[in-house]
Amino acid sequence: MTKIAAPTDDVLQEAAALIKAGDVVAFPTETVYGLGADATNAHAVAKIFAAKGRPSFNPLISHGSNVAQLEGEGIFDSRALALADQFWPGPLTMILPKHPRARICDLTRAGLETVALRVPDHAVALKLIETCGVPLAAPSANRSGTLSPTSPHHVAASLGDAVPPVPLILAGGSCAVGLESTVIDLSGQEAVILRAGAITADDI
Ligand code: AMP
Ligand code: MG
Repeated sequence: MTKIAAPTDDVLQEAAALIKAGDVVAFPTETVYGLGADATNAHAVAKIFAAKGRPSFNPLISHGSNVAQLEGEGIFDSRALALADQFWPGPLTMILPKHPRARICDLTRAGLETVALRVPDHAVALKLIETCGVPLAAPSANRSGTLSPTSPHHVAASLGDAVPPVPLILAGGSCAVGLESTVIDLSGQEAVILRAGAITADDI
């Protein structure tokens, strides 16, 4: 059974406990609802791929609560630091070389030597990540190949009967942006926008 609950302090504690125990939780961000799990726990991340029916060669974005946390996961050069300063928290995902001491697991990265990182601009998402104390891998909370959810009811309609089940959806209303994050690859010399999104090339 999937429970849909407003993100009170108690429910946020429950969500964090589920995630620390290796389960998945759907939560709101400013872009779309995410299906989150501990990005450092391969067993937990495997549940995301299974519940969504997402192929495991498609890497996940890891969400942090601040730049300092993510500096332990990716190697930030001056371009990355400037973009983080300008756009985080916000709908910009950066692909960076993996930090040698990164905790984000192989499955989250689909085995790549790079990591996809973002700090979401949503109080519930930030509180959840902070309480968990680890980055959360979180693609959109829908079956792979279907429309991304912008309300808790969209999530329930898409993943309510998922296997493994999604035990909890944090209900945070409609997503303000309603569009996926922009993905920029900074792992090479030249910055490349891999996915158009809420932030435009002009903004960057
Ligand atoms: P989604 O989670 O479906 O919103 O999509 C995340 C996007 O980021 C996908 O297009 C992934 O292919 C892309 N992505 C995530 N991690 C990496 C990475 N390490 N290198 C390149 N692309 C990535
Ligand atoms: Mg998606």
